[in-house]
Amino acid sequence: MSKPAITTQLVHAGERRPLPVGLPVANPIYTTATYTYDSMAEIDKIFAGDAPDYIYSRNGNPTVAALEEAMTVIEDGTAAFAYSSGMAALHAALFACELSPGAIVLASADLYGASFELLYKIFGIFGVKTVTADFSDINALREKVAQIKPRVLLAETISNPLLKICDIEACAEIAHEVGARLIVDNTFATPFLCQPLKFGADFAVHSATKYLGGHTDAMGGVVVAGEELDRPALIGVMKLVGGVLSVWEAHQILRGIKTLALRIERQCANANCLAEYLSNHQKVETVFYPGLNSSAEAKVIRRVLREPFGGALVSIKLIENTREAAFRFMDALNLCVRATSLGDVFTSVSHPAISSHRELSPAKRANLGISDGLVRISVGIEDAADIIADIEQALFK
Ligand SMILES: *Cc1c(COP(=O)(O)O)cnc(C)c1O
Repeated sequence: MSKPAITTQLVHAGERRPLPVGLPVANPIYTTATYTYDSMAEIDKIFAGDAPDYIYSRNGNPTVAALEEAMTVIEDGTAAFAYSSGMAALHAALFACELSPGAIVLASADLYGASFELLYKIFGIFGVKTVTADFSDINALREKVAQIKPRVLLAETISNPLLKICDIEACAEIAHEVGARLIVDNTFATPFLCQPLKFGADFAVHSATKYLGGHTDAMGGVVVAGEELDRPALIGVMKLVGGVLSVWEAHQILRGIKTLALRIERQCANANCLAEYLSNHQKVETVFYPGLNSSAEAKVIRRVLREPFGGALVSIKLIENTREAAFRFMDALNLCVRATSLGDVFTSVSHPAISSHRELSPAKRANLGISDGLVRISVGIEDAADIIADIEQALFK
């Protein structure tokens, strides 16, 4: 081939260089949508699935695969698939449960708000019925499951915003008695505090946007399956619904995971200090923090969460149980960030009644115990004394 014109050189120069022999120590970011091979015969083989390799990044990408492998390992699962958000991941896990019209999903009554909307507004259209129950009442749950025979049970390891701990082992047993599958949203606990698959859950789902990423700079979601047989459905959603994770986000999240233990240890220690401090506070009626719990539930907490940690979220109900008092407190914070997320290195505060549980009627919110004076605090890695000082001054505003 004669020397190409500058126009052509501009397009091809520098591309498709052979990979270096030295193995990169940090996983490279593969910003490519597609892959080329020496011959059409090879491309044919890869399409046929006879030679597993990369062909198109919606079907798989090495940077995203590195995150998926890390998640498989740290959740002690069989296979993991990453998606563009936690919601996309939850959708994929529900899809993998083969929900046909008439099938029932039994969901914990205090799920993340958007998870309910996904069930009602998306799966509902296809004839899937959603029923809710209090998953902390195991005997009532067993009865309900035997009676309605759900296809799926959906729970969160640590519920939002009252931070109840799910007895995953008991839920898995109850689900499997009727041939149902158990999906556990493990976002609040992270694999460092809890590995739901070890307790018998079929799927662990994460919003990687929260603790896994940990720095508010990436969105993503992951499903980890305990069983090989769920692999095709999870890949199918990735390829055909197409909510794949971008390589940049995969890189950020994988980087975040490296410091998960350090962050969570510090965040839990800080949360513990804060919860203890607030538990004797004249402006605070109730502190919700699993680490403080000394009731019957404490046994479940000790079994489900890695000791001695109670998670890094603390919710408080103010004595002045109004939206005005909550807003006054939140507006007066200088260090803690007012934001509707959690799990970041920064301490952040959110008001569940106007955010995650906004769509519910006031009566339903009251029923769940989500009052207007309830504030959820996601404790960061700052110095505990600074976090407490900021909250202290704001409580007196
Ligand atoms: C944030 C969150 C989700 C949704 O995740 P996105 O990444 O925002 O799509 C699902 N479940 C829980 C418990 C969450 O906190």
